[in-house]
Amino acid sequence: MPRAGIVTVAGKPNAGKSTLLNRIVGEKLAIVSPKPQSTRDRIVGIHSTPEAQIVLLDTPGLLDPRYALQRAMRATALAALADADVILYLADATDGEPQPLAEVAGLDRPPRVPIVRALNKVDLLSASARAELAAKAPDAALVSASNGQGIDDLTARLASLLPESPFLYPEDELSTQTVRFFAAELVRETAFEQLEEELPYGVACVIEEFRESQTPVYIRAVLHVERESQKRILIGSGGRRIRAIGRDARRKIETLVGSPVYLDLWVKVLPNWRRNPSALARLGYKIPEDGSP
Ligand code: GDP
Ligand code: MG
Repeated sequence: MPRAGIVTVAGKPNAGKSTLLNRIVGEKLAIVSPKPQSTRDRIVGIHSTPEAQIVLLDTPGLLDPRYALQRAMRATALAALADADVILYLADATDGEPQPLAEVAGLDRPPRVPIVRALNKVDLLSASARAELAAKAPDAALVSASNGQGIDDLTARLASLLPESPFLYPEDELSTQTVRFFAAELVRETAFEQLEEELPYGVACVIEEFRESQTPVYIRAVLHVERESQKRILIGSGGRRIRAIGRDARRKIETLVGSPVYLDLWVKVLPNWRRNPSALARLGYKIPEDGSP
């Protein structure tokens, strides 16, 4: 019997979660269309070998609660922790030994499932700093998501902790619903890459149209910002910025869907969307029903 289950990844911003997820999922990125269930929007990738299937969930904002947006994200993140068979707690090795997850995440009690600690960016450590850290945190996996060091061992360890189970998802299932979600994430990510300083958290992306029956695949995406000033930054002088974002994002989406894409990219102002529950809901962030974080 193979092993299969959910590994939920938690870590502070910049710990290297996205890089690690890409590294683990690698070429095998399987975008899934789960049956209707609570984990749907949080699946960020699946790693399948003949022996095991690791379904990776993300915990956006868990260790960084700030605005209404982060509160909504926190509810999603806590649900991801609750669904986990194993929690992967990723920290930046250059910050030394990490605080316990329950403490950083403000949990009432430690999660019941196994927590695997991984210290990332060990490529930045000297041999002696690395040995010192290994002695202080002997249980932790020392990895580099950038160069792949320690990742195979980590993946094997995660797989070994999963329950014996048939695979949860077919390896190659693909659905427009999920591809839309990833396409929106890629557009947003690209905007952040190009405008990190100027646009902290103020951008959400919605895919308004996704026509895959034609070549190139036609996608209309709208970046929602809070203020006119942010819109001007996103568009840039003579539209240069938005064209550059569109170009980069289109390439990423083409890799994702495996065919040419025409990305029709727009920017709209939706004032204070981060503090506006109906706007948050419209943009796909789930708000807890009782309003609590
Ligand atoms: P996230 O916020 O946790 O998703 O972190 P990211 O994956 O976006 O990474 C944050 C930054 O750390 C990026 O600039 C990455 O290139 C960098 N980074 C991630 N993993 C490593 C690593 O193993 N080594 C080094 N040197 N940098 C890394
Ligand atoms: Mg990230």
